[in-house]
Amino acid sequence: MTLHSPFPADVSPVSPVVPTPVADGRMVYGMSIDGAIVPAAGGGVIESTDPVTGEVWATIPRGQPEDVDRAVMAAHRAFHNPEWRGLSASARGALLRKLADLVAQNGDWLAHVEMKDNGKLLAELNVQMKYLPNYYYYYGGLADKVQGATIPSDKPGVFNYTRYEPLGVVACIMPWNSPLPLMSFKLAPALAAGNTVVLKPSEFTSASTLEFVKLAELAGFPKGVINVVTGYGHEMGDALVSHPKVERIAFTGGPVAGQKINEAAARSMKRVTLELGGKSPNIIFDDADLDQAIKGAVAGIFAASGQTCVAGSRLLLQRSIHDQFVQRLIDFLGDVTFGHPSDPGTQIAPISTAPQMAKIEEYVAIAKGEGAKLVRGGCRASVEGYPNGLFYEPTIFTDVTNDMRIAQEEVFGPVLSIIPFDDEDDAVRIANDTIFGLAAGVWTQNLGRGVRMAERVRAGTVWVNNYRSTSITSPFGGFGHSGIGREGGITGIMEYLELKSVWLSTAVDIPNPFIRR
Ligand code: NAD
Repeated sequence: MTLHSPFPADVSPVSPVVPTPVADGRMVYGMSIDGAIVPAAGGGVIESTDPVTGEVWATIPRGQPEDVDRAVMAAHRAFHNPEWRGLSASARGALLRKLADLVAQNGDWLAHVEMKDNGKLLAELNVQMKYLPNYYYYYGGLADKVQGATIPSDKPGVFNYTRYEPLGVVACIMPWNSPLPLMSFKLAPALAAGNTVVLKPSEFTSASTLEFVKLAELAGFPKGVINVVTGYGHEMGDALVSHPKVERIAFTGGPVAGQKINEAAARSMKRVTLELGGKSPNIIFDDADLDQAIKGAVAGIFAASGQTCVAGSRLLLQRSIHDQFVQRLIDFLGDVTFGHPSDPGTQIAPISTAPQMAKIEEYVAIAKGEGAKLVRGGCRASVEGYPNGLFYEPTIFTDVTNDMRIAQEEVFGPVLSIIPFDDEDDAVRIANDTIFGLAAGVWTQNLGRGVRMAERVRAGTVWVNNYRSTSITSPFGGFGHSGIGREGGITGIMEYLELKSVWLSTAVDIPNPFIRR
């Protein structure tokens, strides 16, 4: 093992966590099971590639079903261990808040690890990491505020009340686009509710979760309460989803894996939360403030190179402003600056993974084949100094009809489909003509129209005159194929609790069951 880290000398954890070993300039990560850092059964590894340079910067264990079993059984034991089970909800909340403090102190480190893995702009990751502690402060605060009820029962001689109880082991499965926020959306409420967890980050972006879990140990969470297994979904996913000791699955990812997980969960009667994909409409009326709407349209689809579940990938433009808005969009984008994600001048970072790049290229070819008109981009960007970087030009298609695959299927990249509409009814019809229903944007200066559209568009989140506002305090999730359940807000913690009804006799004498009254 050498000491050379792939990170600059001044980038390291602030807290005294166990350092990750380095060999040949690569970080060598282990899984975290029952408080120990361990390799995969069989010793296999997966290489993590930096999407900017194309170089391998880390290895993670290629977990197997045996590893999943070890992690789930550790979480199961931890759930029944008085060290965790015996904690009051207030004490659990305090632990979460301590973790939040540590996350706040180590945000810079976590942002750099995340950037190496998925190539997002460091400036954006810094904002994400600055916000990340709030997940743990919020649910830490909520832990001891979940209350049952006393029920005004219609039965005499009994007192009836309800209580909320943790479920047991929760499996959390994450994608690669925003690893730590999407993980925290699950982890924070699951722990606040008193469960134990097995985290399964994406095979492309496991490093930040493996660094994060060290902070949880430092915060004082007992061994086995938080476990991390790494590896391919197709090799170990089923073992996790079908494990008899897993009570709930919280999944964020694509519709294909989501459907498989839902089927497996149904077979073993597990509860599920599914946060899946989208084909979100961003609808611009001719009475909108177009200066603002331009920014909303660009942020909607090109932030993070379109690799966000809520990407406003269908831009619905009222016919009267269609041509001028398209031109303004092209002008606004101008010659965007590509570059290293840590460079403050970089506007567009690379696509996170090679398979995702291939998918984008495939959909651009499909759109052309369907007759959509390419008016910007449609190709890779070559960036000086990064010949192997996965850069792709912001891409715009006009002449898209809503029945085309480019309008119906999620690309998860910087590809915008523009569709004209005539009036409110037409906009609603097009917006809702999709299997998805994750998010929608509406741009109008007519307040009544904004409220009407928010009612009529079928989506879990609707933004009027803004796009992408989210908060840990608010529920998030999808209609239709965009998912099941909600994360965030007070609803978010309820997903990790089971409701129990308790009946207590207040009668002096229990009636004789053989004498009917
Ligand atoms: P993916 O579905 O390929 O993988 C997600 C995770 O599931 C990974 O950890 C993977 O290893 C695992 N997995 C794959 N097959 C599995 C199986 N059969 N059983 C168990 N686990 C399995 O998704 P991705 O490419 O990593 O992420 C992109 C997708 O995520 C997009 O569709 C995007 O819309 C979606 N997403 C949704 C939200 C949301 O909140 N709705 C947020 C971000 C991303």
